[in-house]
Amino acid sequence: MTKFDYDLFTIGAGSGGVRASRLAATFGARVGVAEEYRVGGTCVVRGCIPKKFLVYASEYGHGFNEAKAYGWTADNVSFDWTRLIENKDNEIDRLNGIYIRNLKNAGAEIFQSRATLKDAHTVHLEAEGRDVTAETILIAAGGAPFVDQSVPGHELGVTSNEAFHLDNLPSHVVVAGGGYIAVEFACIFRGLGCEVCLVYRGEDILRHFDTDISVQVHTEMKRQGIRVITQSTFEKIEKRDGEAKRVHLTNGTHIDTDLVFWAVGRTPSTNGLGLETAGVKVDKQGAVVVDDYSKSSVDNIYAVGDITNRENLTPVAIREGAAFAQTVFNNNPTKMDYTFIPKAVFSQPPVGTVGYAEHEARKKFSNIDIYKTNFRAMKHTLTGSEERVLMKLVVDGDTDRVVGCHIVGAEAAEMIQCIAIAVKAGVTKAQFDETVALHPTIAEELVTMHEKFKPNI
Ligand code: NDP
Repeated sequence: MTKFDYDLFTIGAGSGGVRASRLAATFGARVGVAEEYRVGGTCVVRGCIPKKFLVYASEYGHGFNEAKAYGWTADNVSFDWTRLIENKDNEIDRLNGIYIRNLKNAGAEIFQSRATLKDAHTVHLEAEGRDVTAETILIAAGGAPFVDQSVPGHELGVTSNEAFHLDNLPSHVVVAGGGYIAVEFACIFRGLGCEVCLVYRGEDILRHFDTDISVQVHTEMKRQGIRVITQSTFEKIEKRDGEAKRVHLTNGTHIDTDLVFWAVGRTPSTNGLGLETAGVKVDKQGAVVVDDYSKSSVDNIYAVGDITNRENLTPVAIREGAAFAQTVFNNNPTKMDYTFIPKAVFSQPPVGTVGYAEHEARKKFSNIDIYKTNFRAMKHTLTGSEERVLMKLVVDGDTDRVVGCHIVGAEAAEMIQCIAIAVKAGVTKAQFDETVALHPTIAEELVTMHEKFKPNI
């Protein structure tokens, strides 16, 4: 028996914290977990899961139109935002319950409270007004939406946190940002019938992705009627009558809207956690600095998930949490492997990507071959939609290894999960070519790209 109340105390019951706590408990550790909001964290409560429900809902907005070409009559359809939000909330409640049950069944004790560090072994539980001690502390408090507070009227805007509980579906939305959340929500609102304008400060949206992806998604968004304004930001936001707002842009124009949506990134939730008191170092972005085993600058304090600002994705946080538990509570030192993590943007159509973008590969490898295709999917030959599919392979010309695969098109996220297995295992372009196509599918084009792409110079 140690002198501490717990072997492990985890601050934050999101994806990373829950996985780490459950696993540590199954390895025999006495575990306490504090959560100030809802068990499940951003992904379950106000991120990936509810977002995907909104994506499904908005896809029907296109589907009813397209169904007509396939013989369906779908006139006078209507949409009920309140019902969608209620159904979504019921499912989130169910998942929240499962997460709580799983933690308890593993033997972890849950505290509904904000928790802060008092020193390297002491956690203060605000709701209980008391301290607990632990041999090891895991910080897994996640991140929060960033709002540019230098913009006058910034408080008139909402973030993804509030977007899941709007009272009504707005008729016009202005989205700030050009990353995951901005693009996904712009497409969600458009699919549900709103007028949408996205304002991005850089040259093109999804800047960190392969350039062909950025261009394709931008084109598809415009095709759906989303107005995309680049190289501009918000100068100020003014309140007008009722819900109406006027957004002034740095390009000298303005947009009238009823919803302003900030999607300009997320920041690690380290403020006020007492990290400095305990001696835990954070970087310039406020993220906890950790080593390969997720250990912070203090020997017994670890951190996983978005609070470390490594790859801010749910499955990564889960893996980091598991690796931490293996390392500390199962005598099995385990590092997280960050190579070839598949990623998706649930735009419409969605993006699926794994490995190097062309511009990254050109820096890393001396000899790069590109294969790409851009076509209209068979489904749309009847619907008349101009939606197109982009597929691109980035190949290391010296070894023939496929080091990047990028798709924009229906089911791209589902495809990329499978392709990522092969890419991670070191698949070569020759092996893609040897694989027989599955006809008729969109995915078959992945194994029929025989000609190297030659840019028109
Ligand atoms: P992103 O980092 O993806 O995008 C932030 C966007 O905001 C970028 O376009 C950025 O521009 C812009 N920006 C940043 N600061 C400012 C500013 N001061 N003024 C104007 N624009 C600004 O963040 P998100 O908030 O979209 O998502 C956060 C993270 O959550 C993602 O990085 C991802 O890891 C995760 N996520 C994953 C999802 C998925 O897997 N499908 C879905 C949603 C989120 P610039 O590019 O020029 O820096």
